[in-house]
Amino acid sequence: MKIGKALTIAGSDSGGGAGIQADIKTFQELGVYGMSAITAVTAQNTLGVQGVYPMSVEAVARQLDSIGTDLRPDALKTGMLFSGELIKAVAGKVKQYGWQHLVVDPVMVAKGGSQLLKAEAVDTMISHLIPLATVVTPNIPEAEALTGIRISSRLDKMKAARAICQMGARYAVIKGGHEEGDERQAVDLFSDGEWYEEYAGPRIDTRHTHGTGCTFSAAIAAELAQGKPIREAVRIAKAYIQAAISHSLHIGGGSGPTNHWA
Ligand code: PLP
Repeated sequence: MKIGKALTIAGSDSGGGAGIQADIKTFQELGVYGMSAITAVTAQNTLGVQGVYPMSVEAVARQLDSIGTDLRPDALKTGMLFSGELIKAVAGKVKQYGWQHLVVDPVMVAKGGSQLLKAEAVDTMISHLIPLATVVTPNIPEAEALTGIRISSRLDKMKAARAICQMGARYAVIKGGHEEGDERQAVDLFSDGEWYEEYAGPRIDTRHTHGTGCTFSAAIAAELAQGKPIREAVRIAKAYIQAAISHSLHIGGGSGPTNHWA
């Protein structure tokens, strides 16, 4: 049996709800072998982020070399990358090893407000990483930061998706979860820059959504690692994240994590 292998390049969440931990749980649940390169260690729980400790460029590059010289990821995702120099190192290794099926989750700020990407690194993400991406999965604030487009309508989401594809990504998914206005549903817009498709799901009224973005992008990578076409991968990931939020875990005193057994 061929086993799909997926790699996450992201930050560690000591609380286990987001980052590397959410990604590996997602890979496992979706039946692929999970690998990780850690870009930063966060001291974190359901209440928030108490500390951020980035890894050196060398430590990240060596992790990727260990994977690249032995194990061949069938798909990969990036999450928290913290700085421009780490983005450049990761992009360099993705090119060096010719890794395909890259999902870029442009993680910028945690729900509690902690900065997970330096503001000045956004330009480096646009110039170095997004051109390598199969798909970029921003939420509304991230799409606004990447494109400079203020998003308050479906048309704005389409414009932002087109702008991200013009940066060199093959596809973009603009996630509707942060959108204001519609209290009943969350609508994600999937696009190749020309053509659009919307995926609507009920808006689940809960504060226990820690790790949602990480889990969604990891699920896309897991499906791509199993050879699924991108549209199907996004559709399956949407169903997975919806179940994971509907049954989110009310643990800890703050925002509980998504549930990977759902
Ligand atoms: N911590 C790390 C290490 C992450 O990669 C992410 C991903 O977005 C988060 C925190 C964000 O968590 P939250 O879903 O609570 O915003």
